[in-house]
Formats: sequence, C-alpha cells, structure tokens
Amino acid sequence: MRSKIVAGNWKMNNDLAASKALANGLVEGLKDKNLTNTRVVVAPTFVNLTSVKEVTEGSVVEVAAQNMHQAKSGAFTGEISGEMLTSIGLKSVILGHSERREYFGESDALLAEKVTAALANNLEVIFCFGEVLEDRKSGNHFAVVESQISNALFGLEAAAWKNIVLAYEPVWAIGTGETASADQAQEMHAFIRKIVADKYDAALAEEVSILYGGSCKPGNAKEIFSKEDVDGGLIGGAALQATDFIAIIEAIQ
Ligand code: PEP
Repeated sequence: MRSKIVAGNWKMNNDLAASKALANGLVEGLKDKNLTNTRVVVAPTFVNLTSVKEVTEGSVVEVAAQNMHQAKSGAFTGEISGEMLTSIGLKSVILGHSERREYFGESDALLAEKVTAALANNLEVIFCFGEVLEDRKSGNHFAVVESQISNALFGLEAAAWKNIVLAYEPVWAIGTGETASADQAQEMHAFIRKIVADKYDAALAEEVSILYGGSCKPGNAKEIFSKEDVDGGLIGGAALQATDFIAIIEAIQ
C-alpha cells in the first residue's frame, strides 16, 4: 500500500532558533498521535538540516533537503552534493520545485541529472512539477505535466520508482492563496497515475505516492486529501506554524 505523506517545505524561512523551535513544536505535538500509514517530512534550509535532524531524532518527523547539486563533488561554489546529504543522515530531497525552475533556471534536463544523482546516493526524491496559469487557461496543463514527468523521470528503470514521490504543484496555486479544487487535484493525479501506468505498469503506478501542493491549509486539506489519488501534500506557508501543519497532518487520517 502506498504511503500517505505530508511534507513541509520551509523554503528560505526560519533561522537556527526558529527552525529548532518549529521542529520541537512538531515533535511535541505529534508524539501522542497515532499516525496510520502516514509519513511526516520537513525540509529546512541547508544550514539548519543537522540541527533539525537532532531535534527530531527518534520522532515521526523525517528531515529532507530542498535541493541538491547533480555532481559528486568539485568546483561548484555554494552547492551541496547528494553524498553530503546522506552523510548527515538524510533520506530524502525535494527536486524540481517551481521556485527552482523559475528563479534558478532549472530545466527538465538538469532535473533528470539531479534525480539520477540523488537516487545514486540512495536518496528518495520528492519530485515537483506543475503548470503555470496560462497553461491551465489554455487547457495545456495535462501536456505540460506529462512532459515535465517524462523528461525528468521516464528514463528511470522501474526499480528506481520505489524512491520516487511525485508532487503535483500547480504554479498558480503556490503561495497565492488560490488552491486547486479537490476535483481538479484528483483529475490531475488520476492522469499522472495513468501516464506512469502506461509507461511502466499499473502495479508500479499504484505504489507511487502523489502529493498535492499549492495553498493547502487546515481548512481545505481534508477535502483535497479525501480524493482517491491524492496521497498527501507538499505544504509551504502553512508548514511554518506547528499547529497548522499538525492540523493538515490530522486531516489525512
Ligand atoms: C510549495 O511551495 O511547495 C507550496 C505548496 O507552497 P504554499 O503551500 O505556500 O502554496
């Protein structure tokens, strides 16, 4: 059975003290909850990964990185390799977030390299993709999502997919307060599962967790998560408050 996952992307927010306090709030708030088949992941900034890892040790909260470089090592000033992430005990990395694509020019081809490098380091990849508003308005959203997934992921062997989590994040819904309706999310998630099934097979597609991201909040999470092909969420703004993030986690139970 595929896992339910609620992942918080803290982006470039929270200094050391705030990161530790938020992590501690999650550990305390979740310690008596019985989460069935649900993983909780948080992605702090690189500099706070180790501290958040220490605070969350022994709890249900897993820690992921927000990005990584595709090379093993070398003259890439300011960058972090997959090997460095595993060396501090990380098991997951977010790749392909729309902010990386938009502000840092990350292409599908580059992301394919990053995915390969992450998997080579035994890192699970939470792979983000999604259409911009013009694509949605012109009805091009399915084609855009299909090309983002196929360009970056369809070169992988079937076996590699056990370490892939998909995160559908319509760009028009990220940080805008506007969310896809539960039906829009379900329609796209079912489409994604179908293209994965067509490329590989139905059993593999059934096992892939597909998260929704884009202005997901305590007030709308339950309806979105109730949909058959929605296996959880990638949460931005609402992951910065422990109470909101916990309420979203509870919405999946
Ligand atoms: C995100 O950036 O992945 C995200 C979903 O942000 P928000 O929840 O703030 O829309």
